[in-house]
Amino acid sequence: MPQTGRTLEDTCGSQSTSCSGISIEYAAFRQLNYAAYVDYAHVRTGNQETAMRCADITFDKLWTIWQTALRESPAARGWELLREQVEDLSTCSSGHDWTAHCLLQADNADAILLHRRLGLSVTEAAGLMGLPDYAVRGLLRTSDRMLGALPPCLAPLVAELVGS
Ligand SMILES: [Zn+2]
Repeated sequence: MPQTGRTLEDTCGSQSTSCSGISIEYAAFRQLNYAAYVDYAHVRTGNQETAMRCADITFDKLWTIWQTALRESPAARGWELLREQVEDLSTCSSGHDWTAHCLLQADNADAILLHRRLGLSVTEAAGLMGLPDYAVRGLLRTSDRMLGALPPCLAPLVAELVGS
């Protein structure tokens, strides 16, 4: 897994005991999710360097709101920040590889990307997005309904997005 960005000591100050508990949780969260954030951003932006920049910026922003995020859901807040970051850096262009986010709502397209493109289990995808499993199953179902309603001429474009 590529390691970039600040270390725990840089972020928190090694002598500070009051924030070390939070920092350890932050560092663990970052380590656990970094590769998946990069993989997600790579599919959407089509560029590995951009993807790593997205992940770094996302985790930096998450650190600034970490105490709030901890009280709510670090996964959900992190995912929200990642999606914002990626949206700023991905555009629709003729012939681009990943079409789901141009055709579907962001939640639906995210679930498809994680489960069908990256091959994560429903539980893994749900954990990453900060959602319960049943919500991700629902997103996949509604996505299939929406993609299935597209005219047949578009079917080849969305074949890899549809569940078997
Ligand atoms: Zn597009």
